[in-house]
Amino acid sequence: MKYIKFKDSELEVPIGKMVCVGRNYAEHAKELGNEVPEFPLIFLKPASNVIYSGDNVNHPKHSNELHHEVELILYIGEDIKDADDKSAEKSIHGYSIGLDMTLRDLQFKLKERGEPWTLAKCFDTSAVLTDFVQKNNYQFKGNEKIKLSVNGNVRQNSSLDKMIFSPVEIVKYISARMTLEKGDLIFTGTPGGVGKVIPGDRIEAEIENIGKISTQIK
Ligand code: ZN
Repeated sequence: MKYIKFKDSELEVPIGKMVCVGRNYAEHAKELGNEVPEFPLIFLKPASNVIYSGDNVNHPKHSNELHHEVELILYIGEDIKDADDKSAEKSIHGYSIGLDMTLRDLQFKLKERGEPWTLAKCFDTSAVLTDFVQKNNYQFKGNEKIKLSVNGNVRQNSSLDKMIFSPVEIVKYISARMTLEKGDLIFTGTPGGVGKVIPGDRIEAEIENIGKISTQIK
């Protein structure tokens, strides 16, 4: 079982489901040749895919195009269904940074065939997490800088106010379709600048005031 860990706390919460938003930054939708969406595009990752900052990402042998995606992650701290603005905000108990590693070649093939993205998004070590800041200890501004570099070269550099759907809008949208439970995580999408990494590459990423993450590709 994988756990959510917190800064300055012994608290550990088992991870439930991980709900991810695709194409939530206009510049990223464009770079992959997609329209800016009218509604959030939703997919899932299993908790068994999780590793933590400092662990290695294993490059799957069945892909030649492993991509990095840096994202703001929301920690859902209470069960919620059909949230309104107020209860959606209340259900978010913490924030962190994470990587949604993606097999882009496989994703394009699956998209072409109209098949689910599952195997492009779900593989061991495809979700890199680190400690969460608890909402009690941090006032989320929504315009924090988000940045990722590979071997010291900046690839993704944006700010959270470029998100098309805000954290509250995302929680409302998902909870109208499936119950969110304590321990669920929401990956809120990646800014532009996604790209390929190969074995030996080191990824370092940061969201201002929220967290830092580091991993090497094996
Ligand atoms: Zn993503």
